[in-house]
Amino acid sequence: MRADVIIVGGGLAGSAAAWELTRRGRDVVVLEAFEPGHRRGSSHGSARIFRRAYPDPLYVTLTGVARRLWSELEDEAGEELIRVTGAVDFGPPRPKAQADSTQPDPEKMHEILTAQHVPAELLTATEAAERWPGITFDPRHPVLFHPEGGVIDADRAVAAMQRLATQRGAGIRHNTPVTGIDADGTVRTADAEFTAPVVVVAAGAWLEPLLGHLVRLPRLVVTQVDVFHFAPAEAGTLASGPTWICTEAPSMYGLPSGADSPGAVKVGAHYLRTVTTGDDRDNVVNPAVRDQVLQFVRAKINGLSSTPIAELTCLYTSTTSEDFVLDRRGPFVVASVCSGHGAKFAPLAGRIIADLAEGRAATHRRFSLAELPATFPTQSASLLAGVRHRP
Ligand SMILES: Cc1cc2nc3c(=O)[nH]c(=O)nc-3n(C[C@H](O)[C@H](O)[C@H](O)COP(=O)(O)OP(=O)(O)OC[C@H]3O[C@@H](n4cnc5c(N)ncnc54)[C@H](O)[C@@H]3O)c2cc1C
Repeated sequence: MRADVIIVGGGLAGSAAAWELTRRGRDVVVLEAFEPGHRRGSSHGSARIFRRAYPDPLYVTLTGVARRLWSELEDEAGEELIRVTGAVDFGPPRPKAQADSTQPDPEKMHEILTAQHVPAELLTATEAAERWPGITFDPRHPVLFHPEGGVIDADRAVAAMQRLATQRGAGIRHNTPVTGIDADGTVRTADAEFTAPVVVVAAGAWLEPLLGHLVRLPRLVVTQVDVFHFAPAEAGTLASGPTWICTEAPSMYGLPSGADSPGAVKVGAHYLRTVTTGDDRDNVVNPAVRDQVLQFVRAKINGLSSTPIAELTCLYTSTTSEDFVLDRRGPFVVASVCSGHGAKFAPLAGRIIADLAEGRAATHRRFSLAELPATFPTQSASLLAGVRHRP
């Protein structure tokens, strides 16, 4: 079977690419290994943080472009996909050696947001405690609030993008694992062969095993991360927002759980992870991570009850720098929009992938195969230090 573009992987990145390419009139086939709404990759569930605050001006700019595209998607889909809640960042600035593109520092981020005219406030701990009594703020550190933060419903976003792409003629084939990709761009499944001038490989944790023999990829580490849903201690507290990130090591985040656990708050530790692969992950919550998250919630988030009501695991696929991979080599567009912070950029990733597929534009240097490190240099200890093997 022939198409203009074959997309391998129907997570947020592959679905966004299908949405954007069909908007441009392209004939697209998406091959997805699992069933709609499956939980084996990185894009499932109702709760991902959308935020403008990053300690890196590039990402602040990109969140602005992404937000406009999310609004276009919401308009086309006729549904809200980001619930605006505002976002709070609190805790000490991180030591320089540990700073990276996703590690926040409230004061630095306030400067960057303000320089880009993104509304943001720097509050004292006392002011913050008055607004959000469910969080214990350290009086030594200012607290950042920016009102554009919110919660992305990832399940509904994937479904909406696939639905809109299908309406424009895309063939979205679930339960269709790709078994091999050839150098000429032929894509094989158990019972068919697909050919196209361009193949987008957006296979998340399976990117390396699927494409590594054809394209020199940057170093990608697949990790299993644990998330926990906590009921509020008092009805309503924190359950409707804001989203928050505490910078104090090991850096925890929280956000309204949405449909995954209605009325609850999802809490996770961005840097506590268990190294695995897409096929070998065991779906078992790491008890050491559970202990640290519980300790943190008991000490700092008094608005939540002290024991989770649900817990689950998810996959990150991370580069050394936590930048994304978005680039083209021959017939292949390589797309890994993860490192634990890619959901908020999904429609922008779709646009960049479509531009690469159409040969319209080069990628940003930071996302290029040539620039992203193929190995972990020693100065990348910040990421490795956060990666914990199962005890
Ligand atoms: C717990 C957790 C919390 C997160 N929180 C946030 C957040 O708050 N904010 C934020 O912005 N981002 C967040 N992220 C990151 C974000 O969710 C990811 O960046 C995003 O979902 C990655 O999407 P993807 O399409 O690249 O990968 P995936 O969703 O993994 O999609 C890849 C798809 O390819 C398919 N596939 C693999 N192999 C094959 C094959 N052989 N044939 C066919 N199909 C195949 C897989 O089944 C899968 O559906 C979080 C991620 C996790 C796991």
